[in-house]
Amino acid sequence: MSRHTKIVATLGPASSDPQILEAIIRAGVDVVRLNFSHGKLEDHIALATSLREIAARVGRSVGILADLQGPKIRVGKFEEGKVTLEEGSPYILDARCELGNRERAGLDYKDLPRDVSAGNVLLLDDGRIVLDVERVVGHEIFTVVRHGGVLSNNKGINRQGGGLSAPALTAKDMDDIKTAALIGVDFLAVSFPKSASDMYMARQLMLAAGSQALTIAKIERVEAVAALSEILDASDGVMVARGDLAVEVGDAAVPALQKRMIRMARERNKLTITATQMMESMILSPIPTRAEVSDVANAVLDGTDAVMLSAETAAGKYPVQTVESVVRICLEAEKSEDVTLDREFLDRVFTRIDQSIAMAALFAAYHLKVKAVAALTQSGSTALWMSRLNCGVPIYALTPEPATLTKMTLYREVYPLLIKQMQSDRDVQLYEAEQLLIGAGVVKKGDLIVLTIGEPVGTTGGTNTLKIIRVGEQQAPAKA
Ligand code: PGA
Ligand code: MN
Repeated sequence: MSRHTKIVATLGPASSDPQILEAIIRAGVDVVRLNFSHGKLEDHIALATSLREIAARVGRSVGILADLQGPKIRVGKFEEGKVTLEEGSPYILDARCELGNRERAGLDYKDLPRDVSAGNVLLLDDGRIVLDVERVVGHEIFTVVRHGGVLSNNKGINRQGGGLSAPALTAKDMDDIKTAALIGVDFLAVSFPKSASDMYMARQLMLAAGSQALTIAKIERVEAVAALSEILDASDGVMVARGDLAVEVGDAAVPALQKRMIRMARERNKLTITATQMMESMILSPIPTRAEVSDVANAVLDGTDAVMLSAETAAGKYPVQTVESVVRICLEAEKSEDVTLDREFLDRVFTRIDQSIAMAALFAAYHLKVKAVAALTQSGSTALWMSRLNCGVPIYALTPEPATLTKMTLYREVYPLLIKQMQSDRDVQLYEAEQLLIGAGVVKKGDLIVLTIGEPVGTTGGTNTLKIIRVGEQQAPAKA
């Protein structure tokens, strides 16, 4: 049985070994995430090379997502690597401090004292440590520890309610964008964007570096939630970045936001990745908790394109078992609901010919109970439109473009297949598509297929033809 929901796995020490990498790909990873918060340029290039070699050998299309570090606002390093903060005692965050100690910590974002004021609440290390700001004097922020604990080197700082002004793209991110373009990644995730302009800027830099990667806005700031609609317009997709988002908006607000983000993204023909702590306990344990099983299943039911694994595959003890568990949970969740053609289908306004053909194909596929939809596509748009609505029929996206093939690895319910260069004769091309689906075991004699194609064949944005065939009833065209 084929899985609709895609799996993004973060690579790291636990999965960089070629054997493990191959095992997680075979287990079902669709997209790998290179986390630019860690590792050097050479490491990312080596991983991408190794991944492509494995994917080709295994015969699977696997996409690559580069995730920029962004302006994560962090404390500096400590004399002894860490300190213990006691509840109720004073603590200073000092932009000029080099090495921290029990009295004060340095800051790698030097403008933080200008961004905060008395009464603010600072959350350190994903909220594990909480500081109340008493006053700010020059480069020093005087606080009182509300929740103490061990604070180690370079832990992140968030302000409750958001509002820190660090720009979304740092100098390091701009260098990393060039590396990402060099690697030829399929997706670029931008960390901590606050507005649509952050996303336009990332896209411009990517284009200038020669890459047409799809851009993914990580929604992890209060400001990004407020500007969600414009950010969606400026991006190809969003990540529900629950780790930082929970710290900024409060953890209890995240589940409803997840549903809203996925719904809004689908309505606007955009992609979604649901991320962070999905299988957290599997970092150390070979089986997930009941709550984690429910969380992954609920993300599937919300309609996410992909679920993402972070430390589970990057640094966990059980990367392969984690992917296997996610596969199992997705398949079961996808079975659980009767698929009905999305009602909103009827309310959609579209004026493009290619989009109308995509919608007509879904309508026909649903009512005729066909075995497969086959979209012959150059850019992948037809497959994207089809995958934004539930119709319960798998969408095979056939393209001669390798770059389109790997982008479609993230699209829910889309199975990308590579074809030879488009034939100029439509009937020859459609016959070849039918033969490919038969060869892949997707359909057999007597099954119905809905096919879409553009005429003249091979032009982008030209889908204008819908054909419904019964497999095996076509004569091979003379030219085939
Ligand atoms: P991160 O982003 O893993 O890069 O922090 C995801 C999140 O914040 O949830
Ligand atoms: Mn984050």
